[in-house]
This record gives sequence, structure tokens and C-alpha cells, in this order.
Amino acid sequence: MTQYTIPAEGLVAKPAHELAAMIQSGEVTSREVTQAFLDRIAEVDGELGAFLHVGADEALAAADKVDEQVKNGEQPASALAGVPLALKDLLVTTDAPTTAASKMLEGYMSPYDATAVAKLRAAGIPILGKTNLDEFAMGSSTENSAYKPTKNPHDLERVPGGSGGGTAAALAAGEAPLGIGTDTGGSIRQPASLTGTVGVKPTYGGVSRYGVIACASSLDQVGPCANTVLDTALLHEIIGGHDEFDATSVNREVPACADAAREGASGDLQGVKIGRVKQFDRPGTQEGVTETINAAFAQLERQGAEIVEVDCPSFHDVMEAYYIIQTSEVSSNLARFDGMRYGQRVGDDGTRSAEEVMAATRGEGFGAEVKRRIILGTYALSVGYYDAYYLQAQRVRTLVAQDFAKAFERCDVIAAPATPTTAFKLGDKVDDPLAMYNFDLFTLPLNLAGLPGMSVPAGKASDTNLPVGLQLIAPAFEDARLYRVGAAFEAGR
Ligand code: GLN
Repeated sequence: MTQYTIPAEGLVAKPAHELAAMIQSGEVTSREVTQAFLDRIAEVDGELGAFLHVGADEALAAADKVDEQVKNGEQPASALAGVPLALKDLLVTTDAPTTAASKMLEGYMSPYDATAVAKLRAAGIPILGKTNLDEFAMGSSTENSAYKPTKNPHDLERVPGGSGGGTAAALAAGEAPLGIGTDTGGSIRQPASLTGTVGVKPTYGGVSRYGVIACASSLDQVGPCANTVLDTALLHEIIGGHDEFDATSVNREVPACADAAREGASGDLQGVKIGRVKQFDRPGTQEGVTETINAAFAQLERQGAEIVEVDCPSFHDVMEAYYIIQTSEVSSNLARFDGMRYGQRVGDDGTRSAEEVMAATRGEGFGAEVKRRIILGTYALSVGYYDAYYLQAQRVRTLVAQDFAKAFERCDVIAAPATPTTAFKLGDKVDDPLAMYNFDLFTLPLNLAGLPGMSVPAGKASDTNLPVGLQLIAPAFEDARLYRVGAAFEAGR
């Protein structure tokens, strides 16, 4: 079994907050750090396939700017200044192509930066490149990328999860110490779980979606990824906050994520109530995963937490509701990729009508899964079916939010598995869309309710020797609780 996990030594072995401290103290330059990760990418990414584009010159130029500031004794631009990052290729950037891993957008250059990207640049974070994903962020394995699959660093025959498999694999392979993902139904947490990294989906509205190519707008959220809980917390504070360009971003203070992570690092969970969802103890979950999650609950209890069982009957209908709402929004969001407004234009030879060119463009530009979702969503929204599907799904959404609200009357945080099994083999589920959809069972509910969630490494399953993630869920705008409990769990392992 070939592995490309993080080397035991060297700069690429260090977590982001340590690298930031070394850069600020002058022990090492941001250029040296950035170059070390670029070298690691050059060494392993040919086989791993985490990146769609590497921007070495741009990253090093950003690093030099930080080094200049350090040399001049200036205040650091942020707590992570100088530490490089891998960016999911769903966020638009002016200095690199943005493809959403689709042929439709091959070579597309954006005239502006996504708000999250602008914040990263202002924070002095060099962007190493754009990472692979399932086309338009639809999928659970990164195999729906129109360019290439990404492999799991723990076992190159297996998937890194999806849709954000590129970012997760880059972190797990030591190609980057920080990453950005987006999570519509689990695309940050699920790959984090399968690669043994940390990934956080903030509360809906916590991070601006401006400049994020829309998948399903009422579910999408940008979030931080890294190899430690504190690193995700520091990154969350950098990208979070209100943005006048995104009407759904909330005008509240960014949660104190880093303080919460530092508090949690003591490992003490005395007085914290942690919910365990009855409906998540499901047959079909891999034995090694159940074992690891049981051990995680036992550990949390040893650390002082009280475990309470909570009941969320609506979770039974979450898969169906999600795939109606998600596909409906996709059918509307992706209408703009028609070769006229956006996207490659196909077959415009001067003899064809606009409709014919649009049909040729969409027929060639989109992959099979994207087409499937557009067709499903268009059907769900069509006259006569709207009430039966879309409206019904919205009702389930309300029930899910109510179940969570009731659960959080009895606990501070919910803990759960992030995925039903460890990483599966490349090719295993590509011909079975339902099996692929079912894989996200544990991560979907909180997107429907807009709640924040985290996947934090819980160890390896004894039956497959592959990483398992513990998922933590908090009430809306209580993202800090994830960092407190996540850091405590991490410290107690
Ligand atoms: N796997 C889910 C889907 O395919 C979630 C995707 C995501 O979070 N972007 O819709």
C-alpha cells in the first residue's frame, strides 16, 4: 500500500500556527516555508493529483511581501501571515484559472477575487494553487472532476472523499498546512474524515459566498481546513465576517474561534453536555467506524463531558430532502453556463441557432453527474411537481431544524460519525449514484439547518487501518463550541 502521508520531519511536517510563529520570529522566512511546500507538491502531486493548478511565482511573491514586513518589524498582517494555503478551485481568483473542475470553465480567468480570497491575501497568506474537486462541487469522491481523480494519501487506491478531496489530500500529504473548502452537504467534513485532517463548515452566513461558484446557494458555505483544530480556528477568524456583496452573510461579530481552541487544549470538558443522536447509530456503518466512534465518546466522557442521547426522527428523510433541494438550486444556478453568458461556446459555426449552440455547449461542457442533477432539479421544480417534491422537501427542512433545536435544549454540542465507512476504493461507487449519495448521510442534516460542523480525526479504524473522523455539531452562531470541544478531543487523544 503506497502512502504519501506527511513526512516525519522538516517544515512540511509542522502545523500552521507553529510555522507562523517561526516566520514572525525570523527563524525561517515565508519564502522558505512556501518553497518547502512547493517542493513537496512537485515531489508527490504527479501521482496524488490534489492540485489542478500550482501558482509558484504568485505564492512566492506573496511570501516575499510577508518577509519584507517581518524584516521591517511591522505588525504581522494576521496570526497566520506567511503560511501558505491550498484553495479549492471553486473560489474565483484573478491570478489563476478557476474551473470548478469542469470542462465548461476550462481556462476561465475571473476579473475579481472572491471575498474569502481577498481576505486571505490581506492576511498575508500565499496561495499555493487551486485544488481538485468534483465538478461544480457535486460528488463525494472527487472522481467527478472533469480533469482527474485525486487519490487518498493514506492509500493511493482509495478516494480522498469529496467534493473537496483536493484540499483534504493536500493537507494529509504535507503539500499544504492550510486549506479552504466549501460545504453544501459535507464537502469539507467528509474529505477531512477520510484523510485524517480537520475541516469545518461554519454557520450558514458566517463566511461570505461572494466569488464562490454557486452549487446550491441556500446550503453552500466556505470553511477552513488544516491539520490541527487551532489552525482551522485561526483561519476561520481570517475568512469570517459580514460582506456587503453577499446578502446572506450575517452582520455579527466573527466567533472567537482561536480563544475557544486554546481553552479546549487543556482537555477539560467538565460541565459540557454532548449529545449522541439515536438515528445515527445505524446498521450499515462499518464496524471499525462504530468502534472508533464509541471509543471517542468514551474518551469525551473521561475528559469530563456528560453524554446524553438525543432523538432526531426527521433525519430519516434528510437524504431525499437534500437531493431535491440541492438539485433544484443547481438546475437554476447552472443555467448561466450556456456558452453565451458563461462557459466555453461549442458549435457556433454561424449556421446554428442560439438554442442549438446552448444545447451543444451544455451537452459537451457538463459531465454526467452535473447533467443528472440539472435534470432531477428541473423535474422537481416543474409545474405539477413543485408541491409534491420541492415544497415537501422544504417542510422536512423545517422539521430537521426543529429536531436540532430540541436536541440542543439538552446538550451543548452533538458528536457523531462523519462518514459511515472509511475511504472506499477509486471506482467503487462511480456507477451507483445512490450509493454515492448515501455516503453523506451523516453530514447532510446540518446543511439543511444551516448549523456549523467540524470533522476532527478520531484515529484509525481497526478493520481497515484508515482514518475516521468524529463530527461535532453546534447550534447556529455557536461555532466557538466546535473549537472548544474539538481541541479538547484532539488534546485527549
Ligand atoms: N456530496 C454532496 C453532493 O454531492 C455534497 C457536496 C458538497 O458539499 N459540495 O451534493
